[in-house]
Amino acid sequence: MTVTDAREKALLESVPTGLLIDGQWREASSGKTFDVKDPATGRVIASLQDANSDDATAAFDAACAAQADWARTPARERADILRRAYDMINERAEDFALLMTLEMGKPLAEARGEVVYGNGFLRWFSEEATRHYGRTLTAPEGTLRMQVNHKPVGPCLLITPWNFPLAMATRKVAPAVAAGCTMVLKAAKLTPLTTQLFAQVMMEAGLPAGVLNVVAGSSASSLSGPIMADERLRKISFTGSTAVGKKLMETAAGTVLRTSMELGGNAPLIVFEDADVDAAVEGAFNAKMRNMGEACTAANRFLVHEDVAEEFTRKFVARLEALTPARGTDPESTLGPIIDDGAREDIHALVTEAVAAGAEVLTGGEKVAGEGYFYQPTALKVARDNPILTQEIFGPVAPIVTFTTEQEAIEMANDTEYGLASYLFSRDPSRMYRVAEQIEFGLMGYNVGVISNPAAPFGGVKQSGLGREGGAEGIEEYTTLQYIAVNDP
Ligand code: NAD
Repeated sequence: MTVTDAREKALLESVPTGLLIDGQWREASSGKTFDVKDPATGRVIASLQDANSDDATAAFDAACAAQADWARTPARERADILRRAYDMINERAEDFALLMTLEMGKPLAEARGEVVYGNGFLRWFSEEATRHYGRTLTAPEGTLRMQVNHKPVGPCLLITPWNFPLAMATRKVAPAVAAGCTMVLKAAKLTPLTTQLFAQVMMEAGLPAGVLNVVAGSSASSLSGPIMADERLRKISFTGSTAVGKKLMETAAGTVLRTSMELGGNAPLIVFEDADVDAAVEGAFNAKMRNMGEACTAANRFLVHEDVAEEFTRKFVARLEALTPARGTDPESTLGPIIDDGAREDIHALVTEAVAAGAEVLTGGEKVAGEGYFYQPTALKVARDNPILTQEIFGPVAPIVTFTTEQEAIEMANDTEYGLASYLFSRDPSRMYRVAEQIEFGLMGYNVGVISNPAAPFGGVKQSGLGREGGAEGIEEYTTLQYIAVNDP
């Protein structure tokens, strides 16, 4: 389906540009705005109200004021709102997909995939909302009845990154709504439009005023600062870089704040000598090139057994060379732009450094000339000590390194401070269990390159973060336990 300029314009004009505070779309108190650009062209596509710390405080006041009533709202009502929003986003799936392509750059087909995935959190947590049971038991001594209740943790601050504009928001908002929490949501300034539209849908679905407040702004820390300093805040859930996550954790210590941290990754993808090489190439391609490699789960290091390295590399490089970089609205596009020029420069600097350290460029390795921030799909043959293996690349660049034994592959995989996603390809399920036992990653894909699912507990170990999103565990992040000892045996 071809997207016309008129269709883009109409969609962009329909997106609310204000701050959502206490159920009203408001102007920023400073009267300032900030611009959002299309990374495929570098052109401004929208201007949003630029919230400052006063607006953030007003948004948080609204969340606090709404908390007690929202906590008392029956779970079924909360679930029904989520389910209605899910149905409404399904009806407007093309709008959401196009908006993500316009502000973030991913090809439309991938943006449609994100609508399915991201919206899935609303459905999943609409189901979980009514199935979150406490328990009662009798004390072992027979002296007390013990009741364990779940309570909403309280007002939350939710901070999301730019790479999955819908899914990162729904993955936090849906469980918070399901649990009975109120919140301030702050999206990344590079991609706030999808969040604005999502918030509008949530309001239309019947969410009471003040439960979800949205502040967009050009200065992240001036929005998070006053909220995090406020003792009424009970929880922060952050998805973004490990560096910013660490800073927020330091601040969180000030009020002993509950934290969920979904941070960076350095995912190994291991291809063993007994793998189906074609399936491994397909999985590797998906694990690397989805979202232009701008995913925390993106395969970042390709560890390939030396017996299959030549075949894997040849076929994988052919897949990369078949990609068509173009604006995501172009039906031919299979690779969108990098989010902005700075991010593209960072990727190129990593490639340049890798080459200086001895990497061989198998394909790509350069910026694509012309408008927008495109980067060539790139494969590098590297030695084990190449510095690129220690960095989160966040772009369409695949360093390939060989190994000889299973133990060596496991040690190489674990040789990072990160621990989010990992992938392995092998025909031997017993090997899968052996590796899973030793590998230090929160997520592992076995013969598959895309593993995220709303029903799965997503999250990392080591410096990839704390907590889990999705699955039965996702709602726990937004609840706290209360134990009541009842002296009525
Ligand atoms: P980022 O850390 O720069 O920004 C993330 C969010 O934090 C944005 O909303 C940003 O405005 C905000 N922010 C930045 N500085 C802040 C500060 N000082 N105080 C408060 N908020 C601040 O990350 P990014 O570039 O938007 O996203 C890419 C990173 O996110 C990568 O490292 C990637 O691995 C990670 N990520 C992790 C997951 C996961 O689930 N583990 C998912 C997606 C992305």
